Amino acid sequence: MKFLYKILLWTIIIMAAAFGISGYFFVNFVFQTSLEREVGQALDGSNILQFAFETASLNIPTKYGVLQDIAVEQIGAKLDGGGQGSGRLLRLSDEEKKALYVSEGFTEDTALLQTIVENSRSWQVIQQGERYYVQTGVMVNALDRNLYLETMEDVTEVFEERAMGFELYRHVTVVMLCVSTLVMFFICTFLTKPIRLLTRATRRMTVGDYGYRARQVSNDELGQLTQDFNSMANVLEGTIGELEEEVQAREDFIAAFSHELKTPLTAIIGYADLLRSRELDEEKHFLCSNYIYTEGKRLENMSFRLLDIIVTRREQIERQPVSAEIFFRYLEDMFAGNKDQRLQVSFEVGTVYAEVNLIKSVLSNLVDNACKASQVGDVVEVSGRIVEGGYEFRVQDYGVGIPEEELQRVTEAFYMVDKSRSRSRNGAGLGLALCEGILYLHKSELRIESTVGEGTSMSFVLFDMKEKQTEEGMNEI
Ligand code: ATP
Ligand code: MG
Repeated sequence: MKFLYKILLWTIIIMAAAFGISGYFFVNFVFQTSLEREVGQALDGSNILQFAFETASLNIPTKYGVLQDIAVEQIGAKLDGGGQGSGRLLRLSDEEKKALYVSEGFTEDTALLQTIVENSRSWQVIQQGERYYVQTGVMVNALDRNLYLETMEDVTEVFEERAMGFELYRHVTVVMLCVSTLVMFFICTFLTKPIRLLTRATRRMTVGDYGYRARQVSNDELGQLTQDFNSMANVLEGTIGELEEEVQAREDFIAAFSHELKTPLTAIIGYADLLRSRELDEEKHFLCSNYIYTEGKRLENMSFRLLDIIVTRREQIERQPVSAEIFFRYLEDMFAGNKDQRLQVSFEVGTVYAEVNLIKSVLSNLVDNACKASQVGDVVEVSGRIVEGGYEFRVQDYGVGIPEEELQRVTEAFYMVDKSRSRSRNGAGLGLALCEGILYLHKSELRIESTVGEGTSMSFVLFDMKEKQTEEGMNEI
């Protein structure tokens, strides 16, 4: 059952109970008050009749000083004044409680008569047919006799009023219930709107619409819930986006990997087939074996790099303080054999916090890329300087440059701007991906500035450990 209908149902039940109970007590209270008034009047009437009877008995001529039954009957008839039509009935009984005079329609029941005692007035409410009466009883002293005077006052009207009261209240209750149900329906519809909006948002998100947000329509707890739901949805959308990107990146990686694997393998298989199926002269034989060797080397190189990338994604590193100079000396030694480009090194003496071998690998990759992008005879500059909070390395070349739209992608694994050019230089598009992984471990990143035709500058900063630690400490605070 819908929450809205539950509220409505409970409201109707509670209101029906409240109206019913309050109506019952109210009508009954009015009834009791009216009945008490009628009883009071009946008792007053009984009092007057008693007085009238005693006075009348004194004025009746008596025989032997005794009030005879016939005289009592006569007085009774006189006092009766109209019988049932007057609304008041009476009964006079003698000492043995035998009726001497009875109004027409007076009850035959003598229960009250049996309870009458001297100097007290008894009463009860009785029903006769469809009518209700207040019956009173009193002992009267007439001359030497103790007689009993009973009256009956018609109070049917009071009972009818009570029935009418109940009827009226029933109608009022039904009307009030209808009106309050209608009003409650609108109030509940308004109050439960945030719940409906939240439900809609949840359903939309269930079918994959992660960008859908619930509209906040109130500032109460439900409004807060909507806000929290939307914040949760934001986080969820971000996480799902990241996951999707990650999945996409993995798919791209696998696709590129299989492609890169296929090219050298095809060459190796092709040349190997040539070698085994034909008699080749020495020169061609050497060429074929050389292709197989270089492509095999490329595959080996690729597998090592891939392994390195995977390792950098998992490992924590130990950073050591070392002199920046060792990196520049390493580069000079490494590229001493390169006759095509000239390596120009300039650096400030300083301390670098690094995992030495990994940073050497980054720098040699960057210099290797710079050489591959340059013409024969070009200069490749490698520099180092102390910057605020760390030490900056920069590799600058004056080669082909990288188009602006490719800048974001060059660090992706297997991504090469010019595939044929890179492949011809034994590239697999893994160098910068590896550099990025290593720098990530050093809590740093690669900055690339490039202009097509003018050259490229790749730089990164290795932060001082102490400063970095205090920064982290402050962040935690
Ligand atoms: P690998 O490094 O695996 O041998 P690679 O050098 O082609 O192969 P990356 O080092 O990852 O791969 O470089 C990716 C691509 O970015 C290169 O193929 C090249 O197109 C471009 N690139 C990198 N450095 C430079 C540079 N200094 N100048 C121009 N293009 C560059
Ligand atoms: Mg490279």
